[in-house]
Amino acid sequence: MRGLMMDAPLSITTIMCHAQTTAANTKLISRRADGSVCRLTYHQAFVRIAKLANALDCLNLNADARVGTLAWNDNRHFELHYAVPCSGRICHTINPKLFSEQIKFIINDAEDEALFIDPQFIPVIEDMMDQLPSVKHWIALCSADSLPISKLPNLKSYESLLACEKSIYDWPFLDENRASNLCYTSGTTGDPKGVLGSHRSIVLQCMSQNMASNLGLTSEDAVMPMVPMFHVNAWCMPYSAPMAGAALVLPGPNVSDASAMVDLINQEKVTFSLAVPTLWSGINQYLKSSGVSIPSLVRGVTGGAAGSLKLYEEMDSHGVTLENGWGMTELSPIGSYNRQLSWHHQLQDDARIEQRLKSGRPLFGVQMRIVDEDGNSLPHDGHTTGVLEIRGPWTCSAYYGKAQEHDWFNTGDVATIDPNGYMRITDRVKDVIKSGGEWISSIEIENVVMSHPGVREAVVIGIAHQHWSERPLLIVVPNDNNPVLTPGELLSYLEGKVPKWWIPNACEFVETLPHTATGKVSKKMLREDFNHYQWS
Ligand code: ADP
Repeated sequence: MRGLMMDAPLSITTIMCHAQTTAANTKLISRRADGSVCRLTYHQAFVRIAKLANALDCLNLNADARVGTLAWNDNRHFELHYAVPCSGRICHTINPKLFSEQIKFIINDAEDEALFIDPQFIPVIEDMMDQLPSVKHWIALCSADSLPISKLPNLKSYESLLACEKSIYDWPFLDENRASNLCYTSGTTGDPKGVLGSHRSIVLQCMSQNMASNLGLTSEDAVMPMVPMFHVNAWCMPYSAPMAGAALVLPGPNVSDASAMVDLINQEKVTFSLAVPTLWSGINQYLKSSGVSIPSLVRGVTGGAAGSLKLYEEMDSHGVTLENGWGMTELSPIGSYNRQLSWHHQLQDDARIEQRLKSGRPLFGVQMRIVDEDGNSLPHDGHTTGVLEIRGPWTCSAYYGKAQEHDWFNTGDVATIDPNGYMRITDRVKDVIKSGGEWISSIEIENVVMSHPGVREAVVIGIAHQHWSERPLLIVVPNDNNPVLTPGELLSYLEGKVPKWWIPNACEFVETLPHTATGKVSKKMLREDFNHYQWS
């Protein structure tokens, strides 16, 4: 017997309609490249979204057209996140920081029919425009009077596109499994792969994010995603915040400018923010050196890479509780979350630290297991490490244009899971250091080294070793204010804090570390840099 409940689709349109009813006057603030601030309410943004949907219809795109964006976090990009999928098309966010060969590959693989481009990226696209056969429309994300002179054929400004359109749109009824968002992984190995989300997967991810023991946004929050919208839709904030009735503050291009971010946080009374650890470290350094405070900001998510204990504790001292969120593009993106609960604060010393560094429990809807090399499930005892596999309604079942994957998705991460369901990432499979047949966790060593006051950034990579197959090499960016720090001091610092045989064989100081297009430290590039390293 079937239940007798209405079959209402879980679509992005429902998030928009809900926010229109419950949060019409809530603010949507957007900082532009020139530092000016655009202030809208959700209602005003939804009017512009209706105009944009009408404009998209006039472009005569195919029913399931992919519409590409190369854009920063601002209101125009927010509008595209609704008008494109809610009119039935697919919003394809492209990471403009990728190499141009990758950008070209991605646009051609997705067969984008229209490109919405921030003026800053127009030269990149001009250089490849003859090799993008699917693209019929080029739109610059700017006003009519700032439209640049360009080789792109019939380039229009976004604002002129919207100007003559009606502010009402008859939103179609959409199947909840219809594709809505396309995002490519950064392709650290091989070509980038497309992850195609659906209306249903986005809505379910946002509902689960918004549970109180997860991110738990409320209508009292002002949320500022520093993570870009081209990196898995800024972890879904353009959808989760309006769903919860929270205000949204979109910081534009200059997210690496910590002082500009702190100003914006204070000006707009941001309560909640999200970023990779590198950006949080920048904010932390700035707050320490300037003495400026951020009283409104109480919580933030650090994710995309492991954060160090030092980062958590120093942000605590600024009044900001950082919470660890783990996820990936293939997971829309959040899979687990470590919200600080009252019993965590009662834990003592090492147990408290260990709990804090965990990647959290799976969000409702995500199943997790760890397996050995033969695919056998391993115990959830908090000690045994295995390859992390996941499944659930917002996990990618196959890459765009590729054959179906297996039942469980292999994340490529190595993790432990404890009896309370808390998962902890210990490495990526490709970063694990295999020494004498045993695995060494680079993340755990990095964490300890990062707690040394003289260290700004620390990374551990495996280097080939004649006898042990691989041994760890520690690479450190020292703090400017610690000219007397020595490599030997750091190696001794690890004694008693990690197993003796994990202690790296050597430590090298560098001025900077290479970062990926999503702001994470690139171990791949470091391994290339240290390819010919010789143990002394
Ligand atoms: P890419 O970095 O390849 O562009 P993603 O952004 O999807 O793609 O990265 C996903 C990977 O980032 C995960 O598989 C994991 O290795 C790492 N990661 C994400 N969040 C965390 C976290 N909180 N702690 C440690 N590693 C993380």
